[in-house]
Amino acid sequence: MVDFRLTQEQEQLRQLARDFAEKEIRPVAAHHDHTGEWPGKVLQKAWELGLMNTHIPEAYGGLGLGALDGSLIAEQNAWGCTGIGTAIEANTLAEGPLIVAGNEAQKKKYLGRMSDECLFAAYGVTEPNAGSDVANVKTTAVRKGDVYVINGAKMWITNAGKANWFFVLARTDLEAGNRGMTGFIVDADSPGLTVGKKEWNMGQRASDTRGVEFVDVEVPVENRLGEEGEGFKIAMKAFDLTRPLVASGAVGLAQAAFEHAFEYAQERKTFGKPIYAHQAISFMIADMATDIEAARLLVQQAAWMHDQGIRNTKFASMAKRFAADTAHRVASDAVQVFGGNGFNTEYPVEKLLRDSKIFQIYEGTSQIQRLIISRELMRTGLRR
Ligand SMILES: Cc1cc2nc3c(=O)[nH]c(=O)nc-3n(C[C@H](O)[C@H](O)[C@H](O)COP(=O)(O)OP(=O)(O)OC[C@H]3O[C@@H](n4cnc5c(N)ncnc54)[C@H](O)[C@@H]3O)c2cc1C
Repeated sequence: MVDFRLTQEQEQLRQLARDFAEKEIRPVAAHHDHTGEWPGKVLQKAWELGLMNTHIPEAYGGLGLGALDGSLIAEQNAWGCTGIGTAIEANTLAEGPLIVAGNEAQKKKYLGRMSDECLFAAYGVTEPNAGSDVANVKTTAVRKGDVYVINGAKMWITNAGKANWFFVLARTDLEAGNRGMTGFIVDADSPGLTVGKKEWNMGQRASDTRGVEFVDVEVPVENRLGEEGEGFKIAMKAFDLTRPLVASGAVGLAQAAFEHAFEYAQERKTFGKPIYAHQAISFMIADMATDIEAARLLVQQAAWMHDQGIRNTKFASMAKRFAADTAHRVASDAVQVFGGNGFNTEYPVEKLLRDSKIFQIYEGTSQIQRLIISRELMRTGLRR
């Protein structure tokens, strides 16, 4: 049986997030884009309303919502502003490994903290020479009695400047490739941990991205996630939850771009009629609407599979790749519909085009998603 309707609770959740995006996120989106200021007040309100950390299990003070529920919220947050949406989803990404592999004490302490207070966490995997190629991670963790000593550098870490703790992937075995990496929870105030300057990026400027340095940072053994050597698996497994959510952000951005273009095309007149009456424009808008619906369906399927406990790695990558590419194309077409005005900062769509690019890069580039999909296809064959 296939039922495309949302439940009453899901409709309410979606509406709550939409109202929040309209009243609290949209009005300040341009300000945070221009200034790069951290949207602390908006995030505090989102946390109070239960629009952040939605997947933390009830046992640790959270709402215990599923990926599909989370995707409904993530789409609306991103419709408001993807920079603000990314700050929210970066928490989910950091919490992912803890949910996948944390023991009871670790979950109680670190997830519980996120439920008690509006705090931020960050996922620290990427390094200057290890982005797509995670196996090239050079940060080391050497065990000395009851602690691991971490040395190395991470870069492009979202929420780094505001994080209370980090998930850190480090090498515990120099020879063992992917199996030589281990995941740790590292408190942000650990001596020897320093956070760099906020990067000034092309888009999503409300989001805080920085490098992080580790010089002889001591981490108690009890902060190791799972066993030594399991880090890579744990870090990747978190993506099965987070990629549908990131993809929802891309859908939210595409929806916003489409809405702007649709309205503008009915107002703007050339050659004596609204530009919507020119088929070149209305067909572009028809394609936008179609691709957004297709992306949303893929996202919701990947999220639903996650909630059903069905392996969704292939679908999560399909959703992320398709939604990211859709967002970038739709935002670019929206600029085209606006003509010269589209290129100007007084109009909303140039921000959307800048913001959209990163969806094709972070949490695995569109090329890496294709790599994962093609590998999964070899595993599953023609089975869906
Ligand atoms: C704003 C922002 C926020 C980020 N947030 C985080 C975060 O919170 N935590 C974190 O750990 N990381 C984060 N990242 C890092 C991000 O995940 C990486 O930038 C991304 O994975 C790509 O890695 P890279 O930049 O090293 O590019 P590279 O890996 O050097 O890739 C360069 C190009 O080569 C392509 N390429 C590489 N290998 C292959 C291949 N095998 N086949 C085909 N094409 C290939 C890539 O697709 C890309 O087009 C963030 C990055 C940015 C810019």
